Amino acid sequence: MNGPVSSLPASLRRPMTDPFGRTISYLRVSVTDRCDLRCFYCMSEDMTFLPKADLLTLEELDRLCSAFIAKGVKKLRLTGGEPLVRRNVMSLVRSLSRHLATGALRELTMTTNGTQLSRFASELSDCGIRRVNVSLDTLDPTKFRAITRWGELDKVLAGIEAARAAGLAVKINAVALKNLNEDEIPSLIRWAHGNDMAVTLIEVMPMGEIGAGRIEQYVPLSLVRARLAKQFTLTDLDESTGGPARYVRVAETGGTLGFITPMTHNFCESCNRVRITCTGTLHTCLGQEDASDLRKPLRASPDDALLGQTIDRAIGTKPKGHDFIIDRRHNRPSVSRHMSVTGG
Ligand code: SAM
Repeated sequence: MNGPVSSLPASLRRPMTDPFGRTISYLRVSVTDRCDLRCFYCMSEDMTFLPKADLLTLEELDRLCSAFIAKGVKKLRLTGGEPLVRRNVMSLVRSLSRHLATGALRELTMTTNGTQLSRFASELSDCGIRRVNVSLDTLDPTKFRAITRWGELDKVLAGIEAARAAGLAVKINAVALKNLNEDEIPSLIRWAHGNDMAVTLIEVMPMGEIGAGRIEQYVPLSLVRARLAKQFTLTDLDESTGGPARYVRVAETGGTLGFITPMTHNFCESCNRVRITCTGTLHTCLGQEDASDLRKPLRASPDDALLGQTIDRAIGTKPKGHDFIIDRRHNRPSVSRHMSVTGG
């Protein structure tokens, strides 16, 4: 993968453009489906995880990511499950960072729950990671424990501190949860912005069986935004980080606030993303059941020609978009996969 482009198989030199003319430049990789927390809206309490034998090795994940980079991926996000609980994950981060050095990759980043950041932040920074997203839905330790089923807020706050001390920009991702953190969102914004961190709010999505309905959790961000507008001056921004969020500036704090609205505003027309799981399954849409096995072509041959062809075939079937619904008649998962499998 370090050789000249002309030495690559033709299928790896072909850029990835789907039938709707969208070019794929953003890859999210779930390096494990395991997590050290059990957020109640993400997983059921007695979640069954994949057998370790089914996982791609870190070397295979590297090879897969490198194939996508050769095919035009410029931004790569490692996620999970919790990416930092995968044994030896830093060896993958370090080896992927070579693509930053060559300029093939513009950004290597990570979404994490922050529990392991105290241990890994400075190494992440050494590997060329500049920003991390930390998922944090509340600043109340009791609520934090209730949401995550056993997590300790202090550990996450220490992780965020470590990340900032290592020079990483931190963005806080918070899922808006009905009757749980709705009232706390303004203070979460003030806290994050007061500490120079952007915030993005996310609508809960009906992904995977979690042993509970979604109506009790779901609050539309259109409503949250209308409430915020009563105490903050929100000005729409044109800026994008290449993901699905739309951003506003909050005049009172000077910070940036993002909204990810898969339920109330479909953003699929500009989708530039695909996802791979830790078993090498490619999902070209977060909200559809489509899946292509990349593990077989990866293992079938040491040369990546077949892998490139399989990726092309999958991109050729990328759905136009998702159609999540949460209402009284649709209180079941829209897709059977949990977010922890596909990678958030
Ligand atoms: N463990 C890492 C973390 O906590 O950020 C990465 C994986 S986690 C699945 C990624 C993101 O997905 C988190 O921000 C989490 O809150 C969010 N998430 C999980 N299930 C979700 C759902 N059903 N709807 C919306 N967001 C969800």
